[in-house]
Amino acid sequence: MDEILRVSHLQKKYDDFTVLDDVNFTVKKGEVVVIVGPSGCGKSTLLRCLNGLEEIQEGSVLLDGAVVNPNKKDLCKTRERIGMVFQSYDLFPHKTILQNVTLAPILVKKRKKEEVCQEALALLKRVGLLSKKDQYPRQLSGGQKQRVAIVRALMMQPEVLLLDEITASLDPEMVREVLDVVLSLAKEGRTMLIVTHEMQFARAVADRMIFLEGGKIVEEDETKSFFEHPKTDRLKQFLQTFTYEDL
Ligand code: ADP
Ligand code: MG
Repeated sequence: MDEILRVSHLQKKYDDFTVLDDVNFTVKKGEVVVIVGPSGCGKSTLLRCLNGLEEIQEGSVLLDGAVVNPNKKDLCKTRERIGMVFQSYDLFPHKTILQNVTLAPILVKKRKKEEVCQEALALLKRVGLLSKKDQYPRQLSGGQKQRVAIVRALMMQPEVLLLDEITASLDPEMVREVLDVVLSLAKEGRTMLIVTHEMQFARAVADRMIFLEGGKIVEEDETKSFFEHPKTDRLKQFLQTFTYEDL
């Protein structure tokens, strides 16, 4: 597999506070990497650094060999190649579902409306929301809105998709429908970097796991041995905080 993302010696500070400290890892094309770690350890900051939303102090982020760095003029182009879905779906309230997912490809990528709409309808169908295409976000449940947010990200044809705790604000019965969509994306070979607290899901979807704590990668391993044979005491402790059913 070819490498698509390379993070080298990444350091991120807010004033004097070091949030990320010498973070190094790579992601290959088609790989799914799940990042776990206690609240406040820097997971969201890391994802934001990866698509150039945050300035970094040291190190580099390379997407297919191109620098992702907010100071760079062509950042927009690079950022378009990395999709991101957040906990809050942030759909436009006064636009229909179809408009929400087609707006950026038409305006930013300058693609033909007809072609973009065909693609959007196919994706909405795939996530079970074709019948909602003409409705507004307020008419949808949280799980449905999050599936729309995933479609919106996919419509930009990203090479890497970053998902930051996308089920964290959902009622339990809606978590499954969103995670099923992510599992199907993994099966079709999408490259994804996922932050989640859903350990059972992580185990099912991940090729590789990263445990982040205090802004550092404490442990990184192939999924099975990460869960079954954690090497550091810190990861052992962390995994024990999840109930048996979670694992
Ligand atoms: P996680 O997603 O793992 O819960 P975050 O990346 O959100 O963690 O935050 C990591 C640390 O950085 C936390 O201590 C948080 O308070 C701090 N932090 C996050 N964003 C900012 C900011 N804009 N300014 C200052 N500190 C921040
Ligand atoms: Mg976070």
